[in-house]
Amino acid sequence: MLSQITKPKAECRCGGKTVYFRAYNGESLCARCFNDSIFEKVKKTISKYEMLRFGDRVGIAVSGGKDSTSLMFILSKIMKGHGSQLVALTIDEGIAGYREESIRNAETMAEELSTPLKVGAYKDFFGLTLDEVMHERDERRLKATSCSMCGPMRRRAIDLVARELQVNVIATAHNLDDLLQTFYINLYSGDVERIRWLHPNFAPEFTDFELRRIKPAMEIYEQELAFFAFLNNLPFQTESCPYMNEGIRTEVRNNLNEMERKHPGIKYSTLKTVLSISSGLGPSLSTRKAGKCEKCGATSSGRLCSVCTTLSLIT
Ligand code: SF4
Ligand code: ZN
Repeated sequence: MLSQITKPKAECRCGGKTVYFRAYNGESLCARCFNDSIFEKVKKTISKYEMLRFGDRVGIAVSGGKDSTSLMFILSKIMKGHGSQLVALTIDEGIAGYREESIRNAETMAEELSTPLKVGAYKDFFGLTLDEVMHERDERRLKATSCSMCGPMRRRAIDLVARELQVNVIATAHNLDDLLQTFYINLYSGDVERIRWLHPNFAPEFTDFELRRIKPAMEIYEQELAFFAFLNNLPFQTESCPYMNEGIRTEVRNNLNEMERKHPGIKYSTLKTVLSISSGLGPSLSTRKAGKCEKCGATSSGRLCSVCTTLSLIT
């Protein structure tokens, strides 16, 4: 970590005009060098954790926000000529007035990058939109937060579309900030198993078909992915999910941003610690012991899977 006295320079090391100052390592970068650095970072992460293999069929989960739009753009470039295929999938949770725009953005990107896109909807998979799930929850005065109910449904919807698209890898655009927030949320709730899953090699499958989950943007700051999208004129939705502020994620996010502002690089060093902790925990044995959900037949470690448990609360 460098001290805070490092100041931006007017010129990048290549002589170009500085457009981005990376406070955590003191680099002043022009547009081209900034872009190159993001591509390099993603490539390094993929290779360090052996995320991609020859012949993989990769489905990128695109929400239409800055992170997934940027990652789709990056993967479409770096996967060219590498013997693997890229397809895109989008989940329509059914959030009126919000999801429509992001789906349009995903469709625009898919067309521009000539990447096939498949949209899968909660309504088709579960018989309810997320708006309806939230309405039922409120009617029944349940205490569960929106993300705790929506998260398992989202993961299941992604798996179902992945199976339809016959992909063997799912790439999600979780960035460094997302990983740290998840770490703290699990730390506060005592969920050690989910801390283990943060390691790129220990992500569980939870499917009855082979599906590797990768996060190629996990070592990139959220702010840098947003700037990447802006710099490359990528279409992305700036509005956030209307249900996202119910949990503590936003608070954790704000705290981490404040720490980073005061101590540039602290997020990066925390990521290293998180990965050492999850690596020290080692691979889980629980998924090997998993059986089938009594209701839907999905892979589950309990009698009911998390989706059926959620749905049983509101139907
Ligand atoms: Fe679902 Fe939460 Fe994501 Fe909104 S922010 S789509 S509620 S998981
Ligand atoms: Zn089930």
